[in-house]
Amino acid sequence: MTIKHLSICIISLFLVIGCTQEKPQSEDNKSVSDTKAKELPCHPLTYAALFQQVSAEKYALEYQAYHLAKLALNQDLADESINQQRAVILDIDETVLDNSPYESMLVLQDTTYPYKWKEWLQKADARLLAGVKDFLEYTANNGVEIFYVTNRKEEFRDVTLANLKKHQIPQANTRHLIMRTKTSSKTERRSKIKEDYHISLLIGDNLNDFSQIFEEKSNESKKALIDNHKELFGSRFIILPNATYGDWEGAVYNYNYGLSEKEKHEKRMESLQGF
Ligand SMILES: [Mg+2]
Repeated sequence: MTIKHLSICIISLFLVIGCTQEKPQSEDNKSVSDTKAKELPCHPLTYAALFQQVSAEKYALEYQAYHLAKLALNQDLADESINQQRAVILDIDETVLDNSPYESMLVLQDTTYPYKWKEWLQKADARLLAGVKDFLEYTANNGVEIFYVTNRKEEFRDVTLANLKKHQIPQANTRHLIMRTKTSSKTERRSKIKEDYHISLLIGDNLNDFSQIFEEKSNESKKALIDNHKELFGSRFIILPNATYGDWEGAVYNYNYGLSEKEKHEKRMESLQGF
């Protein structure tokens, strides 16, 4: 057994401990099924991965997001005061490509990211989200440029392009694919595009795909910022659901990704507010 495998086993043990600890039960909710349920081991990603991969509602949300994106783009195209070349900026993971098979693998193998992330990317076999291709073809046919701005590392450029090209989506080429640089913040990369283009729309699954104002903020602060900019959602910003990961989860851990799985579990439980 290698050190990597040993650490995966230790993490798995924490996950099982985290999910099977006893919860107080009153007399009236004690039942055979409750007793069995609490004994079931569960991975923290189980429900989120199910939602992302299995839920038909999530699938419908993909169509809904891109239908809304088309309406929003039409509104922008109708604005004759815009003289600059237009562009749409999209994130890739959980925005254009669906990585739910990777998340499901983590659950099934009882492990955590980044285990086999490289292997998954190298397969270049992620599904295109529903509605994406029609939207991108419509965008390109209306003379709007498309920039794919991702936090995948530069070493994955070729496999990312291969995955995009497999789906024959427009402008899947090196000039329009902007990989992660020194920082995960996309601010600098967006600003560079803004030097030459009018940005019609930003599409992503993470608030940081839209603006730096959301970076490193608590979820409560982010909600207050959303309230202050609510008119942008559905007009300039199109957001897709991602229950499996993102800065929403980082905020739960105060962006301390170095916490152990047990500590992360404790933070998750502390964050939940019952009635
Ligand atoms: Mg993403």
